[in-house]
Amino acid sequence: MIKKIFFLIAVVFFLTATVFYSKNNPRPKNIILLIGDGMGLGQVSTSVLFSKNDQFKKFYSIGLVNTCSVDNLITDSAAGATAYATGYRTNNAVVSLDPQGNYLQTILELAENKKMSTGLVVSSSITNATPACFYSHVKHRNMEFDIAEQFVHSGVDFVIGGGSDFFVPLDFGGKREDHKNFLDTLSSYGYKVYQDFSEIDESGIIKKVAAILGHNGIAKTSDRNYSLGDMTKKAISHLNKNKNGFFLMIEGSQIDWAGHNNDEEYLLQEMDDFNKGIEAALEFAKKDGNTLVVITADHETGGMSITSGNIKENKINLGWVTKKHTANLVGVFSYGIGAECFSGILDNFVIGRKLINYVEPKKSWK
Ligand SMILES: [Zn+2]
Repeated sequence: MIKKIFFLIAVVFFLTATVFYSKNNPRPKNIILLIGDGMGLGQVSTSVLFSKNDQFKKFYSIGLVNTCSVDNLITDSAAGATAYATGYRTNNAVVSLDPQGNYLQTILELAENKKMSTGLVVSSSITNATPACFYSHVKHRNMEFDIAEQFVHSGVDFVIGGGSDFFVPLDFGGKREDHKNFLDTLSSYGYKVYQDFSEIDESGIIKKVAAILGHNGIAKTSDRNYSLGDMTKKAISHLNKNKNGFFLMIEGSQIDWAGHNNDEEYLLQEMDDFNKGIEAALEFAKKDGNTLVVITADHETGGMSITSGNIKENKINLGWVTKKHTANLVGVFSYGIGAECFSGILDNFVIGRKLINYVEPKKSWK
């Protein structure tokens, strides 16, 4: 009897301690942010209704996001990603500076300060607006040669993306006119530089990895034999060696490009690829138990709707109202430690602040 009472007391103590601990320590060890560039609710609907590998139905914490920038109802990827990376809105085309040109610290830089590992996986150039906003600060997103130089000094631990044109001089097949070869500089800084996906070592033995897999973007999903899921798995495997945790941003960059082209087949393939990225992130987060996964978009592209189709026959027809971005709200889907904070209708910069507060709680935001 006494044994039973002791056992009961122990159970009650354990449960109380667990609730107390999770209430007071809701900070996830690892944060994975997935951005579907140009992925509005129409694009998500194609996945939910038609994809055999839809991941969005797995989420219970769901919200909507107002994606406006400071100077425009309709944001671009630079202002959109600045809001997520820094917790502040800025003008269109500006990369992690405020509208007056002041430096805004990014979540990735903050994670580095906290001795977390950091990674970026994108299907665009690594110097494209969305990834650039996490490690660089320039007045205009088209300053990709400067962004490449800032990347070299950024300290990011693991990166997969395209963009060799911006790192390599003209006489070596790139587009730099200043004769600098920043892939060589990366090697001298201790990076292992890859130009072939299959060769990437994700064991963590190599400290820093820069896989630059294309002149500009990497190949579209239909033209490569590895998926965003494969890239995500390599990134996580490399980054998950640090007791302080990691911050990883993954972008389905070409969802936006398909939208600009109003190209239905391209869009569905890129959405499938993005689903594989989500799947890999969720698989890890479920096993790990101490990871937050947030999926959102910087804006919608194309004003896309499903105009007709047949689910049984897997026939889908899309309609588009523009080749540009729209101000339609986008979704935010979250899973894991701290996921409950991302439901409701949120401003894009609020999502950035919530993420940053998980890396280092800030007392006030000006
Ligand atoms: Zn776009």
